[in-house]
Amino acid sequence: MNRTTLHWSYLNFKDVPMDLFLYEDLEEIYLKENFITTIPKWLLNLTTLKFMHFAGNNIGSLPDEMYLLENLEFFDVSHNKLTKLPETIGLLMRLRCFNVSGNQLTELPIEIGDLKSLEELNIANNQLQRLPLQISECVRLNVLDLSDNKEIWQIPERISNMQSLQTLMADRCSLIYLPVALSKFVSFVRIFHNTPITHIPICYERFYQNFFDNRQKPTPMTKRSDGFFWVLEKETYTKLLLPIGTRRIFSIPSCENQTTLYDDCLHALQYFNRFVPLYSNKALRSLLPEKYMADHIKNGPIARCSLTTCANPLYTTYYFMVVKRSGSSSKQLFTCNFCSQFCGLTWLGENGKKYYQIAWEVFED
Ligand SMILES: [Zn+2]
Repeated sequence: MNRTTLHWSYLNFKDVPMDLFLYEDLEEIYLKENFITTIPKWLLNLTTLKFMHFAGNNIGSLPDEMYLLENLEFFDVSHNKLTKLPETIGLLMRLRCFNVSGNQLTELPIEIGDLKSLEELNIANNQLQRLPLQISECVRLNVLDLSDNKEIWQIPERISNMQSLQTLMADRCSLIYLPVALSKFVSFVRIFHNTPITHIPICYERFYQNFFDNRQKPTPMTKRSDGFFWVLEKETYTKLLLPIGTRRIFSIPSCENQTTLYDDCLHALQYFNRFVPLYSNKALRSLLPEKYMADHIKNGPIARCSLTTCANPLYTTYYFMVVKRSGSSSKQLFTCNFCSQFCGLTWLGENGKKYYQIAWEVFED
């Protein structure tokens, strides 16, 4: 039989029908809203398949040999019962769109970063606790939806390196702060109901909506505060949590020139990192003078200079500013980070009418 698309949704199937084998050159199958529990291995021989719709079944795991579907571009397995993904998922080299929302995943394999064709990833409504750093290696990823993963408290800073990312959705997670850098191509961000967030980096202001203003009912953070760096803002005396990796911050203006040799070295490494990923080269990593340095490279910069014409990566030491909009009723705090005092003063010169600075001090328990 010669048909390239099969519509077999809503038919109460308990298994994928063997009749599929009767169709040559099958490219697309709709098996949505059935009662299918497994993707049988014989199905993986239908290598002409490009689009598979399995939303709303009872599938508990994916076969390790999924990669045999070498032409698969679109795979919707949302609203099933998956608890993990096979590591071999990274071998689906043509996969462009992967919807695995509404499952019970607790982690993503690091091999997700091998999906170099991936453009849309929907992992919303799972039980993920973290995103692997490697997600930033999905160089074509355009849309990332991680909403409704109530345990996720941090998004890897390295997503700022994702040149294709345009849409980021993270509603109803437990984010305690946002990545302080965003690729300039990001055009849509949604972060409703992340109540532990106390402040928003200024680069998010273009997406800012009043709904994001969580400060009427901030939820105290339940995580241990060890190893975190806190600042006390002196208008409302809110404690702000700065990104992990922050070691020292300075106010503007400040008398010293704060660039450290350590950060200079990291800048140089970052430059090489672009060509040869250092964080995946164990031999090279062991040569680095200290573990922190390897970690910093692996995690990427913790911020970028808020002066958009500069955007230098920032690692451990930077100039820090807390601002609010002048003449606005919003209580939202925004934060800025600068590589140098010069950048801070330039930014203030350009934006001093729109915002006013709020004093802060380092807070120690
Ligand atoms: Zn700068």
